[in-house]
Amino acid sequence: MSVFNLVDFDDHEQVVFCSDEESGLKAIIAIHNTNLGPSAGGCRFWDYSNEEDAITDALRLSKGMTYKNAMAGLKLGGGKAVIIGNPKNLKSDALFKAFGKAVNNLGGRYYTAEDVNITTADMAVVNQVTDFVSGLEGKSGNPGPFTALGTFLGIKAAVKHRLNLDSLEGISVAVQGLGSVGYSLCEKLHKAGAKLIVTDINQDILNKAKSELGAKVVSLDDIYKQDVDVFSPCALGASINDSTINQLKAVVVAGCANNQLAANRHGKLLHEKGILYAPDYVINAGGIINVALEIYPEAYDPAQAMILVHNIYQTLMSVFENSAKENRPTGEIADEMARQIIGKAT
Ligand code: NAD
Repeated sequence: MSVFNLVDFDDHEQVVFCSDEESGLKAIIAIHNTNLGPSAGGCRFWDYSNEEDAITDALRLSKGMTYKNAMAGLKLGGGKAVIIGNPKNLKSDALFKAFGKAVNNLGGRYYTAEDVNITTADMAVVNQVTDFVSGLEGKSGNPGPFTALGTFLGIKAAVKHRLNLDSLEGISVAVQGLGSVGYSLCEKLHKAGAKLIVTDINQDILNKAKSELGAKVVSLDDIYKQDVDVFSPCALGASINDSTINQLKAVVVAGCANNQLAANRHGKLLHEKGILYAPDYVINAGGIINVALEIYPEAYDPAQAMILVHNIYQTLMSVFENSAKENRPTGEIADEMARQIIGKAT
């Protein structure tokens, strides 16, 4: 298999294969681009069905981080790590220390953090052997509330652009997924006077949303076809796909989930249908903005992070305005803006 010929290989600066026989570590660290600063992006622990899937994931996710960090105005490049295997059987201090050693060997070109199946406790072990770790307990901590604030501001920007409304009072929002980010987002939307329709696989959280926020609960399948202003994917990726796109009645798609579009062509389809899509990596950057302050040498200040998250509103407005001016999908415009920012820093 040739890495250079993979579809997702995008002139990545460095791809490192790390292994440690004793602990069973098999990991890939992909550094996509460091024009803006050291690369940063989480580490995912996943039982990939083959190594090519793991490489593809690392390549794709690290490129996504370059674009996300650039659009968030951060002096950070894009990187990502994947650890291959079943976290339930493989997790050990020895494995995370071996991973930490590999991160440390990159001398600060890559800062790691939590991603899928990695906890702050795991990262604390990594931190025993390297300082190039962020998102630690007692420092920037849980990114959820910051991501929720950014997503809330992104919905406000989209409603302003698409419906010319300054307030969310009376706006209806269908939220898919009430986890760390989704529930916090719902609290903000409720406070702003929005009407909530929600779904989740967790009945307890649905009951909570019903009693605390007056949310209407619908089934997993029915969330797409609700007669609402905004559809907000806050659970899984690829929720905008061939089977869901035609069910949407919302005129805005804006949520925190990563990789909301199953394929790029779904961004084009949303645009053609007059549905305003807030590109996921722009609207959900609140968490990485918070983490970035931990990486920069100044002392971490959550108040400063909250201020920076407010920039997401204006960034999205620029994306929406350029998309309208050029009659092109918002995702294409955001990618282009990101590439310009990265290119200027060369
Ligand atoms: P989480 O695990 O806390 O919450 C996910 C929620 O989705 C859970 O309540 C879960 O029960 C629910 N869910 C799972 N499958 C579902 C389904 N089929 N239909 C409806 N609900 C379902 O995760 P989170 O941290 O809130 O992140 C949510 C999304 O946002 C993820 O895609 C994540 O990658 C993305 N994201 C999160 C952050 C962050 O700061 N946490 C930052 C950027 C992007």
